Amino acid sequence: MKKTIDFTKHSSIKIGPQTEVSVIQDKTYPKDHYMLGQCNNVLIGPQHPPLMVLGKEFDYIKVENGLLCVGAATPGGKLLSFCKKHDIRHFELLPKLPGNLGGMIKMNAGLKEFEIFNHLHSITTENGELLKKDIPHGYRWTDFEGIVFEAKFEIHKGFNEAHLEMFKKMRDNQPIDPSAGSCFKNPEGDSAGRLIQEAGLKGHRIGGMAFSEKHANFLVNLDKGTFEEAIELIQLAQKSVYEKFDVWLENEVIVVDERYKGKESPLLQTRTF
Ligand SMILES: Cc1cc2nc3c(=O)[nH]c(=O)nc-3n(C[C@H](O)[C@H](O)[C@H](O)COP(=O)(O)OP(=O)(O)OC[C@H]3O[C@@H](n4cnc5c(N)ncnc54)[C@H](O)[C@@H]3O)c2cc1C
Repeated sequence: MKKTIDFTKHSSIKIGPQTEVSVIQDKTYPKDHYMLGQCNNVLIGPQHPPLMVLGKEFDYIKVENGLLCVGAATPGGKLLSFCKKHDIRHFELLPKLPGNLGGMIKMNAGLKEFEIFNHLHSITTENGELLKKDIPHGYRWTDFEGIVFEAKFEIHKGFNEAHLEMFKKMRDNQPIDPSAGSCFKNPEGDSAGRLIQEAGLKGHRIGGMAFSEKHANFLVNLDKGTFEEAIELIQLAQKSVYEKFDVWLENEVIVVDERYKGKESPLLQTRTF
């Protein structure tokens, strides 16, 4: 099955083509296609590969053998409501992580030391079940082959309202303009926002895109910003921060465009997909 998506409306950064995507309804999929979740962490360029999303068959939550089994197309908000209703803890961070479960797993999304992998038991891909201990992962990265169709979590009782409030407050400083969340990962022991600000780029604008006045590590779409403007700002920040601090900022936002796949020159590299 196929459907047409307008990524200027569908993606959180409001950039991208209007194009047909394949909807995957079972565990077979075209290997040359790129999987998207809710598009809260991607910047899709004009030269994107063929795209796919998971169908509603993968939007479910059930409890089996004492584990919480969640389909990868399940939105975070739905999972949070389920956990609240069934008094399950450790998912209180979800209101601040827009996306589907598959995207969260792939990114190991989280806030400070709270990450989606913390209470993960296993994931299911087309290659079968993979236990957490066998999946290399860390701050905003994971390394596994294939597509996530389901994730299983340990169940710990006691939904924590205080944690829910704490997570809400943690992100009070986030801009409300369209963005893909943090543009760069924080380098060890430092903050990407601080480095961008010190490099003089907080609020810096090219066309419709800018590094937010509110938080420099948010690349925001202020007025019909384009892919090219976003890339220009990303590369400007990488180059400026590198020249000033000898630190290479690694993209957190994933650039989905063939031109930026596998680039090796550090001053051109964005992030391979
Ligand atoms: C305002 C805002 C605030 C944010 N704050 C945070 C934050 O505090 N912490 C944080 O960690 N993130 C944050 N993000 C980023 C985003 O919430 C997470 O990265 C989220 O996990 C993305 O989910 P998604 O469904 O939108 O994935 P997408 O953006 O669609 O995809 C992200 C990646 O996941 C892959 N992917 C998607 N589905 C699958 C699947 N089924 N199998 C394999 N790979 C898959 C894609 O190929 C891509 O590489 C923020 C984003 C926004 C817009």
